[in-house]
Amino acid sequence: MTWDPIPKSRQQADGANLTDYERERREFSWRAARRSLRGLPGGRGLNIAYEAVDRHLDTPRCDQVALRCVGRDGTVTELTYRDMHLATNRFAGVLRGLGVGRGERVFTLLGRVPDLYIAVLGTLKNLSVLSPLFSAFGPEPIRERLRLGDGRVLVTTPELYTRKIAAIRESLPGLKHVLLTGRGPAPEGTLSLGELMAGAPAGFEIAPTDPEDMALLHFTSGTTGRPKGVVHVHEAVLAHRVTAAYALDLRPSDVFWCTADPGWVTGMSYGVIAPLSLGLTLVTDAGEFDARRWYRVLQDQRVNVWYTSPTALRMLMRHGGAPAGEYDLSELRFVASVGEPLNPEVAVWGLHTLGLPVHDNWWQTETGAIMIGNFAATDIKPGSMGRPLPGIAAAVLERGEDGRARVVDGHVRVIEEPGVEGELALRPGWPSMFRGYLNEPERYANAFAGGWYLSGDIAREDEDGYFWFVARADDVIKSAGHLIGPFEVESVLMEHPAVAEAGVIGKPDPMAGELVKAFVTLNPGFEPGDGLRLELIAFGRRRLGAVAPKEITFDQSLPHTRSGKVMRRLLRARELGLPEGDTSTVEHPVPMVPGRLKPLASP
Ligand code: ATP
Ligand code: MG
Repeated sequence: MTWDPIPKSRQQADGANLTDYERERREFSWRAARRSLRGLPGGRGLNIAYEAVDRHLDTPRCDQVALRCVGRDGTVTELTYRDMHLATNRFAGVLRGLGVGRGERVFTLLGRVPDLYIAVLGTLKNLSVLSPLFSAFGPEPIRERLRLGDGRVLVTTPELYTRKIAAIRESLPGLKHVLLTGRGPAPEGTLSLGELMAGAPAGFEIAPTDPEDMALLHFTSGTTGRPKGVVHVHEAVLAHRVTAAYALDLRPSDVFWCTADPGWVTGMSYGVIAPLSLGLTLVTDAGEFDARRWYRVLQDQRVNVWYTSPTALRMLMRHGGAPAGEYDLSELRFVASVGEPLNPEVAVWGLHTLGLPVHDNWWQTETGAIMIGNFAATDIKPGSMGRPLPGIAAAVLERGEDGRARVVDGHVRVIEEPGVEGELALRPGWPSMFRGYLNEPERYANAFAGGWYLSGDIAREDEDGYFWFVARADDVIKSAGHLIGPFEVESVLMEHPAVAEAGVIGKPDPMAGELVKAFVTLNPGFEPGDGLRLELIAFGRRRLGAVAPKEITFDQSLPHTRSGKVMRRLLRARELGLPEGDTSTVEHPVPMVPGRLKPLASP
């Protein structure tokens, strides 16, 4: 099945603010874009928190809502830019008062509550380094990351402290301060953040900040293995701001909702920094995924731009169009997705159900910001990641035996012919490019060759300059002489009405080398059984020929990472009885009960 492109004109009711891809690219320069930032007063450098908060102080935005947090129970807390300014000053003052300095690591273990946003930006004001943890992590992954990242301060809730930190505290001698949110009595060895904030000065002068000062430490979502610490600097804010305007079509008057967990890079780059640096209203929701709850947030908060993940969209799709139809989504102007490939089916589903297509975009923890997208100035090709943003040069490099870019005497070869698969690479030099893997200089050096950053993803570029994701280099299946990306097989399976989601792996096979195996989650109204299995195998064979799955297992709760990716590594390990490796980022599966929605939580 081929999917027709969705032209720009059908993407938005009021037309994109950017129209011409070629012109935007030609006229763009990072140097010129830099002028859209304020910089610290007196030419004292560039600080993310200043650009996100303080720069709005002497503008009319100052008293507009910066942050609107919907709590689990539906209560809404609002902070204006002025409120954010004062609160982040106080937080920075708390750190200074504790003697926590430049470059020292502050970890957050918090859900989407106002204190999280205050801690993140207050830390950056103090020139300390912020490292966000998923609040659902258990004690082990927390300890591992605090240890690897040399955590000096941890900000968390009293409840999470008791459940997850108290028992490991002793084993972390470097962790000097644990700050607990709220104003209740702090257990021994901890401090009450509320008390400290109340006593901290309302003013805080940000020290001169070198754009190259380390700002954020992100541990990758760990789809493929052990956590890596990815280092970002203050200059990244330029890319956050620019890419959000291009790829998410964000405008200062918008209400924006980014559903990404704040423990993941998307939850920081686009869940905090980019939207605030543009001066708009950021909505957050502390509730769990629930189709009706999410539609209700879109409606009640009058969200204009929504950034979410393929898994969430697939779950909404599984509930059919009915719930969406019950809500007024007329304020919604732009929907984007990231994290793993967006099946063409889902991109087009948006058009029917939300009245808007879903715009896929591609990036990584390492790139810090969106690099490739079906963005506002381009037509959407369903199933494609889109085209490189202005200021970004991407290419596909010829591969060697190991499936990664072939490097000969430090040189690589760019594939010029359209449609040929190779390793996706980017020309270094954009502001949010990572500056290192923490304590792993060799690994960092190995990520570059021949003047390119090597992404580890396999892709192809078509004749119109659109990039198509094939697979992670380490996910490619080799079957009977064919190289197969699991995503292509998954997308075809999803075109069958019974299939809600699929995860595809290669399973060793004496004849074929590897055999394609699919794990399939069914839509409501479909029952697993041999009949359906045979039907799906035949369906796959008709569409895919030799690379179709030979085995199918029904599984109503595929393992996902917290950032929303199907964990093929885990499916494969389980299938082969291998050790599961690091599973700290596995999301506890939300079993979907066919035909029944979860009861509606109030907001
Ligand atoms: P690790 O590097 O530890 O294995 P990870 O790669 O999952 O973890 P992230 O940096 O969060 O950590 O994810 C980036 C990866 O997600 C990309 O390299 C790509 O494989 C995948 N990805 C992100 N967006 C897209 C997209 N739009 N289409 C296809 N794949 C995507
Ligand atoms: Mg990665």
